[in-house]
Amino acid sequence: MKIKPVHIVVDGPCPNKCPFCISKMNSLNNVLSVDDVNEKDVLKRMMFARQNGFNVLCLTGTGEPLCRDSLATTTNLLLLNNQLKEEMRFNWVEVQTSGACSDGRVVDELMRLKVSVVGISVADPFDDANNAEIMKAPEKNQFELSGLCRSLKGKCITRLIINLTENVFAEKKPSHLLKRAEELGIDQITIRKLLYDRSSDSYHNKWVRENAQCNDIFADWQEFVQENGDPIFICSNGNIAYDINGFTIMLDDPGSRAVPDKAEREIGTLIIRENGRCYTRWDYEGSVLF
Ligand code: SF4
Repeated sequence: MKIKPVHIVVDGPCPNKCPFCISKMNSLNNVLSVDDVNEKDVLKRMMFARQNGFNVLCLTGTGEPLCRDSLATTTNLLLLNNQLKEEMRFNWVEVQTSGACSDGRVVDELMRLKVSVVGISVADPFDDANNAEIMKAPEKNQFELSGLCRSLKGKCITRLIINLTENVFAEKKPSHLLKRAEELGIDQITIRKLLYDRSSDSYHNKWVRENAQCNDIFADWQEFVQENGDPIFICSNGNIAYDINGFTIMLDDPGSRAVPDKAEREIGTLIIRENGRCYTRWDYEGSVLF
């Protein structure tokens, strides 16, 4: 079996203003207005993905898929999936959030809609105040990571997605993060090196260049997982999942993913974007399929 994800972009604003925001780096130029996108457009593409062997439905956002303005869309997409015939339905359903709006009511709603994995994307998993500071979260959207993990525990798989920054990880070793993961009771950890464009001087690119190159920190992690982990499986993007002390750990360096012959021989990811159309790459609008 291959793990083949289809990402659906839930269009909507995000209350945070992360200086490393990947969504802003990969926003579309020719976005249709939300009114032009209807459920039939999205459903058609979800079924296309399913018919072509894609087996993971991942709801992510140009903003925050669980905040007020996008939660209705997230709910509708999950309902659409649940209404599909069993053989067409995605059973592995993942929602990625910054945690900004995920209170107990939202968690209950996700579980009712049969979400199986919740990915919480943070900059500082050790200190909520510093996490809010880096992600520039307004006071009303700040949250307690341990509380959110507690409310999810036992109901679904919880993945902590760490956006690596010098500020947090210059002093923290892999062993510190594993201890913290144990305290939080999460199941999986993704360590993500932040992506930037060397040729651009935009605010985001400059910030990542100055605060989050993290080459040495990422290299320490690579050494750590190779020495202490057992490789379990390879994802469609080439990342290897390791088991360490019962945690699934994945290192993600989007800038160094191998692309055979530049173009892909086999499409490993599908993205249904905020205009309702289907793409194979986040970074190329020319990857649109239909
Ligand atoms: S939480 Fe995500 S979408 Fe929101 S600003 Fe940060 S990176 Fe961008």
